[in-house]
Amino acid sequence: MPSSSGPAIENLYSEQRTFPPPADFAERATIGDPAVYDEAEQDVEAWWASHAGALRWTKPWDTICQWDPPFARWFDGGQLNVSDNCVDRHIDDGHGSQVAYYWEGEPGDTREITYHQLRDEVCRFANALKDLGVAKGDRVNIYLPMIPELPVAMLACARIGAIHSVVFAGFSSQSLVDRIEDADAHVLITADGAYRKGNVVPLKESADRAMSSTDKVTTCVVVRRTGDDVEMTEGRDHFYDDVVDGQSAECPPEPMDAEDVLYILYTSGTTGKPKGIVHTTGGYLTQVAATHRLVFDLKPDTDVYWCAADIGWVTGHSYIVYGPLANRATSIMYEGAPDHPGKDRFWEIVDRYKATILYTAPTAIRAFMKWGAELPAKHDLSSLRLLGTVGEPINPEAWMWYHEHIGGGTAPVVDTWWQTETGAIMITPLPGVTASKPGSAMTAFPGIRAVVVDEQGEAVAPGGGGYLTLQRPWPAMLRTIWGDEERYRDTYWSRFGPDIYFAGDGAKLDDDGHVWLLGRVDDVMNISGHRISTTEVESALVDHPKVAEAAVTGRADEMTGQAIAAFVTLRSGEDPSDELAAQLREHVAERIGKIARPANVLFTEDLPKTRSGKIMRRLLKDIAEGRELGDVTTLANADIVDEIKTRSDSAKAEEQ
Ligand code: ATP
Ligand code: MG
Repeated sequence: MPSSSGPAIENLYSEQRTFPPPADFAERATIGDPAVYDEAEQDVEAWWASHAGALRWTKPWDTICQWDPPFARWFDGGQLNVSDNCVDRHIDDGHGSQVAYYWEGEPGDTREITYHQLRDEVCRFANALKDLGVAKGDRVNIYLPMIPELPVAMLACARIGAIHSVVFAGFSSQSLVDRIEDADAHVLITADGAYRKGNVVPLKESADRAMSSTDKVTTCVVVRRTGDDVEMTEGRDHFYDDVVDGQSAECPPEPMDAEDVLYILYTSGTTGKPKGIVHTTGGYLTQVAATHRLVFDLKPDTDVYWCAADIGWVTGHSYIVYGPLANRATSIMYEGAPDHPGKDRFWEIVDRYKATILYTAPTAIRAFMKWGAELPAKHDLSSLRLLGTVGEPINPEAWMWYHEHIGGGTAPVVDTWWQTETGAIMITPLPGVTASKPGSAMTAFPGIRAVVVDEQGEAVAPGGGGYLTLQRPWPAMLRTIWGDEERYRDTYWSRFGPDIYFAGDGAKLDDDGHVWLLGRVDDVMNISGHRISTTEVESALVDHPKVAEAAVTGRADEMTGQAIAAFVTLRSGEDPSDELAAQLREHVAERIGKIARPANVLFTEDLPKTRSGKIMRRLLKDIAEGRELGDVTTLANADIVDEIKTRSDSAKAEEQ
């Protein structure tokens, strides 16, 4: 009989395939020797200090790490400026004419911005912000689409010591209000509009609605992107062009303490009220630079790096703006949707700029799978030498597809686990060292201590499943939740004690001790006393050649406590049928065990996703249990929910 004292989370899925780095990749890799892990372990502080030392400090630090759980201070006593490190330093080293961003707008317009031009823009806008009364420590809200003024605005804030809070441009005016109020921000930077899938999103209208329901904002700067007429409120609203016009391109960077706040970023809110995650200056920049350089094996002179996320998410903060710029990368920045005007827009971009590194999310990869391998095959993707993924567990078959159809069967894939809270990559292969397994994030980055524990907080042995924890401070860690220290302690540092960070994700170790992320702890299902992760069942479904994407959830069941309800999207050209549903249920049973066989399979064109592209299982659970739906306002594709609900209700009616 199953008992409740079984494993915290079952380990059902096993994967035998491994992909060592190709010999020529390993030979040229910045790190090609696994000894780096031991080196870092022997003296963790020295390891991080060596990376901090690669930055430009205007005053050296006194201590490397002070750990007063759950509060850490890194490089205390030191001073530096993030914008100086991201821009001026490279110009001083003679690289001012190197391209920082190849920017491409969704309509097809392009801009090329060198480090030199970037500095001039940043300085002009920084001076404009000062003229508008922005001072060190003030919070500035940034609500911009993916246009060059977005990184410029972030760097301008960093230059004068203002704290930015970027709000994803796809968020509603209410989300903007919540964030403005929480951060007590008096300045808002936005744009007239944004392009999305060929349409104009009226961003200023949304900002206006926000500003009419809070009286916090006294100054609003409006970037002209679409050129459409917008309402401007006298005394409050200013066009970006007007405020930077005539400003000096010199603005001395403000010396910042290592522990001064660089930014606040609210987590996407997949699980409840958004939390204002606070990141500081020295440790954050150290770890984003180190991980960006080593995980992506960045060669600043030759690589063309593309992180296809939105800067509104932490991935964009750390791996479009701060990490790449600190490392003098040449990046691609793309404004729009992957399927506009065609579903091969990404591959056209890779080909045109000869991108060498691509970093994207499993949700995008599964969409590409659904759309078909013919699309990337039409373009020359041979420039790509390294691929990355982040945001959700990647199903092994999606990993394989990415490796084969985008990476030409040779480019290593780095599956990087981290969170808004961690600030930077924490668990990941090192591409010149690690023999990766499809679907596994593999190993903690050197210097990071990631431990999978059971209910009691004891480390699980290889083969075991449980909860992911981090058991040592790291430079880019969140310092608190803005204005809510208690919530900081409660959320992250109470489950297993005040010095153990609880990530909220399930994880397991395979027999070799490699880490597999199993999705959110809240999503774990309980079938006859077996705690089963959504991830493993979904991966078993995606393992079937006709399936592109799958989500499962546990719905209440009289017999088994919960039963698994599966929602499946097929690859293009495949048709749903009762036979296929039966086949898929059987496929899961064979692949990972009968206990994980879905009770039912519902086919759907798409799955409900957050705006950052993550599957929202909580809504699927509401649907599967026939409940009224919870909050759908944070969904990227709210329509699909009604459609799935209708289908689910009619399937249930048929059963009866
Ligand atoms: P909220 O915390 O508000 O619910 P969120 O967790 O979606 O939002 P993020 O910080 O952007 O916000 O996402 C971090 C989460 O994404 C991780 O906790 C994990 O669940 C998931 N994740 C990120 N990268 C990976 C990865 N490589 N493998 C598995 N899961 C990942
Ligand atoms: Mg989270």
